[in-house]
This record gives sequence, structure tokens and C-alpha cells, in this order.
Amino acid sequence: MTLPASAPDYKRILLKLSGEVLMGEQDYGIDPAYVARLAEEVKAAKETGLEVCLVIGGGNIFRGVAGAARGLDRTTGDYMGMLATVMNALAMQNALEQIGVQTRVQSAIPMASVCEPYIRRRAERHLQKGRVVIFAAGTGNPFFTTDTGAALRAAEMGCDALLKGTSVDGVYDKDPKGNPDAVRFDTITYGQVLSDNLKVMDATAVALCRENSIPIVVFSIRERGNVAKVLKGESVQTIVQGGS
Ligand code: UDP
Repeated sequence: MTLPASAPDYKRILLKLSGEVLMGEQDYGIDPAYVARLAEEVKAAKETGLEVCLVIGGGNIFRGVAGAARGLDRTTGDYMGMLATVMNALAMQNALEQIGVQTRVQSAIPMASVCEPYIRRRAERHLQKGRVVIFAAGTGNPFFTTDTGAALRAAEMGCDALLKGTSVDGVYDKDPKGNPDAVRFDTITYGQVLSDNLKVMDATAVALCRENSIPIVVFSIRERGNVAKVLKGESVQTIVQGGS
């Protein structure tokens, strides 16, 4: 497979992990052993000399939409979902610090005794000092997702790419689960993702990346060592980027 020309030029990236990957093989919650393995991936990325921002979802614990479907007020559910992302961020911070990676958690919903509030200039300083910054609580607003939170922080922090680690190794023309003839794209435009409603990230997140020319690299986080491979351009992946 051809190397993406921009891969070696990344200086600062944002890695977005869905909450579900923290479950490991469980059906719910956080598997500390699996979080430790993910932390190794983050450490490997850091050791290539990159500045690393992290956003972790909350779907392993709570999603507002799911709560609303069962009668909970949607806004309340969304705030619960955002709180779930803070738990995941703390679990990841713990795992990273156990292997010697300095981190700071910054939450879009201030909670002074738990972590820092989100302050862009302070986050900038942390990154310059070689710390991994974990952005928690999404955008801080209901009716958004952590994908959009990730795109927003990637834009604010001037990240060169948004790496989206999922359970699938890229973007396919149809769901590869149950469709053996599904074809994976090596590259695809933001426009095609939006017009074909391909399941990469939600439309707001994709549009935000398009407006700010931030490539989205979709890859499987389930495969050990894959973050480092993505950074070398050696992974099976799909890059969502501009173009006609
Ligand atoms: N959420 C929100 N605003 C945000 C980010 C997240 O309301 O800016 C809530 C929303 O309820 C969402 C939940 O937090 O379902 C967990 O985030 P998400 O579903 O994005 O997690 P992931 O699918 O990545 O695990």
C-alpha cells in the first residue's frame, strides 16, 4: 500500500478512541488490562516525537440517546454521557502514568477537584512540555458527540490529523460486517463521506474537519501496534481528506 505523503510530517495529532474500546471483551464499563494495552499504543505514538492529544468517548458507560430511548430526558442523558467520558479519561490517565507518560486531563465541564478545566493555552503548554492532554466531557454541550468534540479540539489545537481508532480497519462502501464484498477505501473525500452517509464520524465532526482541512485517519485500534503503524503510513486504513 502506498504511504500517505503527509504521515511523516505529523507533529501534533489527536487520537480519538470510542468508549467501547475500553471495554476490551466485556459488555460494559472499563477493563483496566485493556486500557493498559491502549496506553502502550499512546506511549508508542509519543515516543516517535509527536505531540499527542486524546479524546475518549463514553459509549462503554452511557449514551444520552440510549437513555432518551428509555424515557430519560435527553439533555440529562447527554450530561451523564459527558460525565462518563471523564471516567474514561481518568482511567486512561492512570494507565498512562503507570507507564511513565505524563498526562493532564482537561474537562469541558469544569470539575476542579478531579481535573483541570479546558483552557486551550494551558493545553498548548502541556503539549510543549511533552505531556499527553486528554480532553474530556466532549464539547461540554448536550446534543453533540465526542467525535465532534475531537474535531473541535483538533481544530483548536492545530492538530495535523485526527486519528480515529475503531473496531473496523477503515471506511467501506457498505458495512463490512455481513457484506463480504464490501470494499475499503484507501482515501475518500469529506464530501463523499457526507453525501453517501458513510459511517465514519457524525456529520458535524466530518464537516468541522473539512472546514479546517484536518485529515481523518480511520484505522483499527484492536490490532496491537497499529497506532505506530498508522504514524509510519504502514497500517491498513482510510484517510478522509479534501479533493474533488
Ligand atoms: N456527549 C454530549 N456532548 C458532547 C459529547 C458527548 O452530550 O459534546 C454525550 C452524549 O450523550 C454521548 C455520550 O456523551 O452519547 C458519550 O459520547 P459518545 O457517544 O460520543 O461516545 P463514543 O461513541 O465515542 O464512545
